[in-house]
Amino acid sequence: MSLELSQKALKIKPSSTMAITELAKQMKAEGKDIISFSAGEPDSRTPEHISEAAKKAIDDGLTKYTAASGLMELKQAVAGKFLSFNHLKYEPEQIVISNGGKHSLSNVFTAILNESDEVIIPAPYWVTYSESAKLAGGVPVIVTTKKENAYKLTAEEFETVCTKKTKALVLNSPNNPTGMVYTRKELEEIAKIAVAHDIYVVADEVYEYLCYEGAEHISIASLNDEIYKRTITVSGLSKGYSMTGWRIGYTGSSLEIAKLMGSIQSQQTSNPNTIAQIASIEALTGDQSEVELMKTAYNKRRKYLCSRIQEVPGLSCIEPQGAFYVFVDISDFLGKEYKGQQINAAADFARILLEEYSVAVIPCEDFGFDDHFRISYSVSMEEIETGMERIKEYCESLT
Ligand code: GLU
Repeated sequence: MSLELSQKALKIKPSSTMAITELAKQMKAEGKDIISFSAGEPDSRTPEHISEAAKKAIDDGLTKYTAASGLMELKQAVAGKFLSFNHLKYEPEQIVISNGGKHSLSNVFTAILNESDEVIIPAPYWVTYSESAKLAGGVPVIVTTKKENAYKLTAEEFETVCTKKTKALVLNSPNNPTGMVYTRKELEEIAKIAVAHDIYVVADEVYEYLCYEGAEHISIASLNDEIYKRTITVSGLSKGYSMTGWRIGYTGSSLEIAKLMGSIQSQQTSNPNTIAQIASIEALTGDQSEVELMKTAYNKRRKYLCSRIQEVPGLSCIEPQGAFYVFVDISDFLGKEYKGQQINAAADFARILLEEYSVAVIPCEDFGFDDHFRISYSVSMEEIETGMERIKEYCESLT
C-alpha cells in the first residue's frame, strides 16, 4: 500500500509533558519509588461541592446535549468571572465553552489562521502552542527570550519579528514553564506593538489564579479597547479548581470569532461534557475558599523548592511568581558525565535522573530550551524534600 498520510499530521510531535507524566505514572504503578515533578496538574482532589454538583446533575437527568458552544448559564458564570476577576466585559455570546484549554487554543487557531500565517511564540513556550498552530495551517515563529529579562518577551523582540504575514502572538502569563508573570507596563508595551501591526493576541491565562506574594495577574485585553478587540482570552477550570480530568476550557473574544469557534465546535465535538459544564457553574459561582487554600499550599512549596534548588551547585532558577513550575537552568552540567554517559542536553540529564534516581522532571527541548528542565511543585512537601535530596546527590555525582 502506498497511500500517503497527512503531511500536516506527520509534522506534529506528541506532547512530551503528557508522555513523561504518563511514563512516571506507569513506573509508579509498577511499584517503583518514583518522585514525579512532571505533571502540570494540581495534586489535590476536585473540591467536594463541585463534585456534588456533578452527581446531582446526573441524578436530575441533566445528561443530554447542550448548545455546541456551551450552556448559557455557564457562559453567564464565565462572563461574571471575567468581569470581577479580569476586569473584562464579555457578553455571554462572546464566550465559547470548550473541552479544555488545549481545545480552546485549537478553536482559536482554526478560527483565525489561514495557510502560512505566522504565529509568534515566545520561548520557552508550552509544547502545545506550536503544534496546535501548525495543525491549523500556521507557521510558528519562535522568539527566544533572555534569562536576564526573566524569560519574558520584550516589546523590542516582538517588533523585530513582526512581518506582513504575522497573524497572532501567543502570550502566556503566568507562564508555563517559567512561572513568570508579565507586569502591566510590559503588557502595555506589547499591546502597543500588537495594535500598531494589527496582530491578534492569543492570551493563555489558565494559571491566572496562581500568583504569589504581590504578583498581580493582568489580562492584556483589559488594557484598552484596541487591544481588547484583537485579543482572544483563553482560560479554563483545570488548574485553578483542580479539574484537569473534567476538560472544561473557555474563551472570551469578539462576537465574530466566538461565532466562528462555535461553528467549528458544532462540527468537531458538539458540546463539552454536560455534567462537567454544570460542575463548572458551581466551581465559578460557589465557595472559592479551596482555591485560596491550594494557592497557599503552592506558595509554601514554591519557596521551599526554590531554596533547595539554589543550594545545589550548578543548578539555578529565577524564583517564579505564578503557576506551579520552576524553570531550572542546567547549562553548567552540559558536557559533564554520569558513569561514562555524557550529558549533552536536558533530555540526557532528565533521562539519567529518572533511570538512576527515580525522579521525573520535564526536559525543556520541546519548550524551546534544551539546557533547562521544568519542575512542577504540585506535589507534597515530603516529595519535594526527597526529590531534591535525590537531585542534589545526582548533580554532585556528575563529573
Ligand atoms: N499543561 C500541563 C503541562 O504543561 C498539562 C499537560 C499538557 O497538557 O501538556 O504539563
